[in-house]
Amino acid sequence: MNREGLLIVVSGPSGAGKGTICKELLNKNKEIKISVSATTRNPREGEVDGVNYFFISKEKFENMIEQEEFLEYARVYDNFYGTPKKAVLDTLSEGRDVLLEIDIQGAMQVKEKYPKGVFIFILPPSLKELKDRIVKRGTETEEDISKRFGCAISEIEKIENYDYFIINKDVERAVYELQSIISSEKNKVARY
Ligand code: 5GP
Repeated sequence: MNREGLLIVVSGPSGAGKGTICKELLNKNKEIKISVSATTRNPREGEVDGVNYFFISKEKFENMIEQEEFLEYARVYDNFYGTPKKAVLDTLSEGRDVLLEIDIQGAMQVKEKYPKGVFIFILPPSLKELKDRIVKRGTETEEDISKRFGCAISEIEKIENYDYFIINKDVERAVYELQSIISSEKNKVARY
């Protein structure tokens, strides 16, 4: 039986800890492939081109939009982010699962184009915790921090568009819940 892989879409407000959860999921499940997004934002310290993101110019990004090379793309804060379509679809058709860690606008575009995916929303344990985490990361300016916090609040209201939520109080627990969701989805009778 040659089945398509599962498309796993994870979103959540900045500071909810989705990056950590996804990294841990991938460590524990080597067979899941993460999609590397393209972005026009500058690399943060330690980020590697082609690993964390494909860091590209605005011109190149616009060109990729024109060529319909994105499964979805969105402007997040002041930068553009997009999921290169071909890599994702090829990997799924090889039967491998693909993880997208993208914002809500992007996730909703994917839902339109690929409703077979599973859409998961990561929540922080509280708004106070969320703010603390954004501040603690220390990679953003004060203006960025309040922008991200403001967006986070309105993003949380969009949770109803997702299939599942996970509260990230404890990373181990959150990863366990994510794994459980994935294995249940993969065993759905309707997928065969
Ligand atoms: P950051 O700049 O912190 O890496 O990411 C900012 C936001 O952009 C996060 O919410 C992240 O999930 C989202 N993001 C990263 N890659 C993509 C993408 O390819 N498409 C969309 N729509 N959002 C993305």
